[in-house]
Amino acid sequence: MLDVDVAIVGGGFGGSLLALVLRRAGLQVALIDRGRHPRFAIGESSTPIANLVLRDLCREYDLPRIAPLAKYGTWQATHPQLISGIKRGFSYFHHEAGQPFVADAEHSTELLVAASSSDQHSDTQWLRQDVDGFLFGEARAAGAICFEECDVGEIEASGVGHVFNVPMKHGHVENVPHEMHTRFVVDATGEGGFLAKQLRIENRTHELRTNSRAVFAHFADVTRWKRCMESRGLDTAEHPFDCDHAALHHAFDAGWMWQLRFNDETVSAGFVQDLNRGERPNFSASEEWDSWLYRYPSVGEQFANAKIVRPVGGLRSTGRLQRKLARAAGAWWAMLPNTAGFIDALHSSGIAHTLCGIERLARILIRSLGRDDLESRLREYERCVLGEVEMIDLLVSGCFAGLGDFRRFAAATMLYFAAATSYERARVASVGEFQPAFLLADDPAWLAVVRRMCVRLSEASVVGQFESELAEAIRPFNVVGLCNPALRNMYRHSALPECV
Ligand SMILES: Cc1cc2nc3c(=O)[nH]c(=O)nc-3n(C[C@H](O)[C@H](O)[C@H](O)COP(=O)(O)OP(=O)(O)OC[C@H]3O[C@@H](n4cnc5c(N)ncnc54)[C@H](O)[C@@H]3O)c2cc1C
Repeated sequence: MLDVDVAIVGGGFGGSLLALVLRRAGLQVALIDRGRHPRFAIGESSTPIANLVLRDLCREYDLPRIAPLAKYGTWQATHPQLISGIKRGFSYFHHEAGQPFVADAEHSTELLVAASSSDQHSDTQWLRQDVDGFLFGEARAAGAICFEECDVGEIEASGVGHVFNVPMKHGHVENVPHEMHTRFVVDATGEGGFLAKQLRIENRTHELRTNSRAVFAHFADVTRWKRCMESRGLDTAEHPFDCDHAALHHAFDAGWMWQLRFNDETVSAGFVQDLNRGERPNFSASEEWDSWLYRYPSVGEQFANAKIVRPVGGLRSTGRLQRKLARAAGAWWAMLPNTAGFIDALHSSGIAHTLCGIERLARILIRSLGRDDLESRLREYERCVLGEVEMIDLLVSGCFAGLGDFRRFAAATMLYFAAATSYERARVASVGEFQPAFLLADDPAWLAVVRRMCVRLSEASVVGQFESELAEAIRPFNVVGLCNPALRNMYRHSALPECV
């Protein structure tokens, strides 16, 4: 009988990295995925917070092979075989339906926010099939007992102390035990929702404000947006960084698009539809894709010669992207953040949130597994993760509410940038094991600002008035000079001094 301390169900990057960390701390770990690496996965754009947490995890658990992934330069020098991309910041461009993109000297249809000040120190786009497969292999090399193409059956108490039976269903794979014993179960299955189904956990998605869906794939031969702008005589000289070396967003009336460019010149691209403004269209994924390109001709120009290269099967079309569960942890189990809740790709918060969850949960399991304080620490973990999901929902839904009016949208993004940059600084200044919650979700003063501004965003009829109120409200959290009209939407400096 296989006996482990922790069984992790779901071997994406989150489950794999947690397995690796727990092994470094000496726990016996099993890692089980129903798929097989390498496989396509979406969610590829990292952020300064993600890199900060990844760096700290690598320091805390001595992970020298993973540490280079925390910056573009060291990643390229150490693991060039894992495909990545440069992400110098966030870029946004506003489009009117049926019209070519226009820009002006005030950059009233553009917003660029730098996250790092050089390519070497920059954030990265992760080709997830490479990164996830690498981390899964690293977990295995560190002694995690790894199973692929395995499903897990109904988990139940074994009757021996606090031990649980994990029945294994292994399809055609050999050498898989029929059952294992574990003291703890982590659900890292994301939308797979493994424990939610088993434990019949209440679904609270209806409480979320954001209501969106997506159609996406990876493409080759997507013309760079900078080239499209320049070929139309639009000036990019004042851009603080190459706008394609970014999480590039095109903003529309009832949705937005992401573009993440990798080093092999393939691009992850997806259209996100705001379901609060319209029904899901009643046609195929490729017809939907073409209709977006038709409606926004400058984006259509970018994709005129594009070909889908991943995933096998072509475009993926989703239902509502959001999920939120009533619970994130119990006496013998916990979910990683992306399993307990997910909002939207806007703000690229998923990887960073997952890393924050790994950091928090690993400390709890390493210190408290088998001890009396485990349950109370897990309750705190649950409170924190669910509060973070609420914060992301507020920040994202605020931006959705501003779609169609780029000044309002750009102002709403300032709430996210204030949260992210304040979190980074609070984290670096924090002492010992205390870490602020992701995006300051547990700071009552910040939560009050965000809630109030989300209401004002829709109420304020004059956008200039909203901008002034917002600038005033975020003042205590405005550590990088956001909401500065003199910068005309071109923000050059937001990186932490130690990360530039
Ligand atoms: C459209 C979209 C765009 C996104 N864009 C971004 C972005 O730009 N930046 C960002 O930071 N985040 C983004 N995200 C979020 C990001 O994808 C997640 O944060 C990230 O995937 C979390 O990783 P994970 O390993 O926890 O879960 P996942 O990547 O979801 O991995 C779950 C794993 O569990 C396995 N599994 C599922 N069910 C079972 C089961 N029953 N038994 C065994 N194994 C199972 C799956 O095979 C998979 O390997 C995006 C998400 C979506 C949906």
